[in-house]
Amino acid sequence: MAILPSSSLLSQRKLIYPSSIFAYSSHIRFRLGFQIMNSTSKSEPKSVSSSTIYQVPGLDSHEMDSIAEKTFERYSSKTVKRNGKGISIVWYRNDLRVLDNEALFKAWVSSEAILPVYCIDPRLFETTYCFGFPKTGALRAQFIIECLADLKKNLMKKGLDLLIQRGKPEDILPSLAKAFGAHTVYAHKETCSEELQVERLVTRGLRGVVLSPAQGNSTSSSSTHNPKLELIWGSTMYHLDDLPISISSLPDVYTQFRKSVEAKCAIRGCIRLPKSLGPAPSIDDWGHVPSIEQLGLQSEKATKGMRFLGGETAALSRVSEYFWKKDSLKVYKETRNGMLGPDYSTKFSPWLASGSLSPRFIYEEVKRYEKERLANDSTYWVLFELIWRDYFRFLSIKYGNSIFHLGGPRKAERGWSQEQKLFESWRNGCTGYPLIDANMKELSATGFMSNRGRQIVCSFLVRDMGIDWRMGAEWFETCLLDYDPCSNYGNWTYGAGTCTLISKFLNKFSTCI
Ligand code: FAD
Repeated sequence: MAILPSSSLLSQRKLIYPSSIFAYSSHIRFRLGFQIMNSTSKSEPKSVSSSTIYQVPGLDSHEMDSIAEKTFERYSSKTVKRNGKGISIVWYRNDLRVLDNEALFKAWVSSEAILPVYCIDPRLFETTYCFGFPKTGALRAQFIIECLADLKKNLMKKGLDLLIQRGKPEDILPSLAKAFGAHTVYAHKETCSEELQVERLVTRGLRGVVLSPAQGNSTSSSSTHNPKLELIWGSTMYHLDDLPISISSLPDVYTQFRKSVEAKCAIRGCIRLPKSLGPAPSIDDWGHVPSIEQLGLQSEKATKGMRFLGGETAALSRVSEYFWKKDSLKVYKETRNGMLGPDYSTKFSPWLASGSLSPRFIYEEVKRYEKERLANDSTYWVLFELIWRDYFRFLSIKYGNSIFHLGGPRKAERGWSQEQKLFESWRNGCTGYPLIDANMKELSATGFMSNRGRQIVCSFLVRDMGIDWRMGAEWFETCLLDYDPCSNYGNWTYGAGTCTLISKFLNKFSTCI
């Protein structure tokens, strides 16, 4: 039985199928592992048992270690020179990687020893801003734990380690800077308000630390000084500083943005690091990678659908598997709107969001593939999609907090419902509409949902149920392995029609109808 709200737009419209599903009903030619769809098509793919579990990437640990090792080797440099003094800190945030990490590179160049630090910030495990859902669900927490374990391992291979501390960065970093006499804290720049506030607090905390003239990277310094926070742009494929337009005049039409960067902007090469980054400062207790229980959450593991492995080793292996081993890149454009199984799309997003994968590395791998195998619409289309990701990140700077507001950047006024029962039927996959329910169950069980699935469930919630879009966005924030405020709230504001450019979302929809 489908759940239809008594007072909602749905029942007023007297639709048998809500509009978002109606558009797709003739396209339901597949089965989802989470709920069997009705279909009489003979061409439908083989049914996938609901107990099937796919590990992504589907390689064994030996194979993955070997791919990571070879990639690090390919990206290591013998010519880079170190010319700094003293100690610098690398503050790891959403950049949990070694390869193409400019913060790590700059820290190495400017010091004699690097201290890499990750702070387990308790605020990440509080609740979402408006509706009180867990800010980080157990599946993403588990993914991040795996990213940290892998980062620690890869840093150790390079002669370093990862200091893991529980607490707020603004408390931990100044006290470490003081204890080690670190002259600079290097970190990647973020764009959204919560992250920017932490940057401000860390800067303020560092201002309160006084270093002696002997501590620092300048031999000529004769007076005391404070350690500084140096923030580096490194999350997008196109660099912020290379954009041909200022952020304030960023076009509201994606195509204009894309054409402009493609014509006038080059993508920077990946940063190359020396083989060894040591020495690390001498520390008795580097801290340990926490268990999920230590983060105050209960262990959850995907038992059907896809199970993503966290960490840079898995990220590099997934690129290798999807591009080179399975050769799936050459058909990406035709398969990318699928919903079933690991290979209809790249599945790079969880690693991109945690920063264990660099978008510039993906770009270089696409170019290598085009040179060594073939170049076609599909190879280009992965880059096309990555430009969407860049675009949402740049838009988050242009529009600031308005991407989180009910009216969005457009300040759109519309009556929204917050009817709990209706929302819960959507959230729990109990609406009675198999396509919606299967996608929502997949999200809860695995932390992932296809792009097409996200568009459909978003449209259903906001257009058919008339529910406040922020409830959907916050539920995605809890569950998604690839949660990233810019892409999540950016896509939701589009879906809700509260972003300045509604046509993008509708365009994307119409491409598959
Ligand atoms: P592919 O199809 O293989 O694309 C390659 C990469 O391009 C992706 O990994 C991603 O980094 C980027 N990309 C593709 N489509 C988009 C898009 N619409 N917006 C931004 N980047 C894109 N993506 C996130 O990474 N984090 C989110 O929190 C997020 N929330 C979303 C919420 C809604 C309502 C919608 C409609 C989309 C959201 N997306 C989000 C975008 C998109 O659904 C995922 O990036 C994509 O499904 C990830 O699968 P993939 O890596 O196989 O993508």
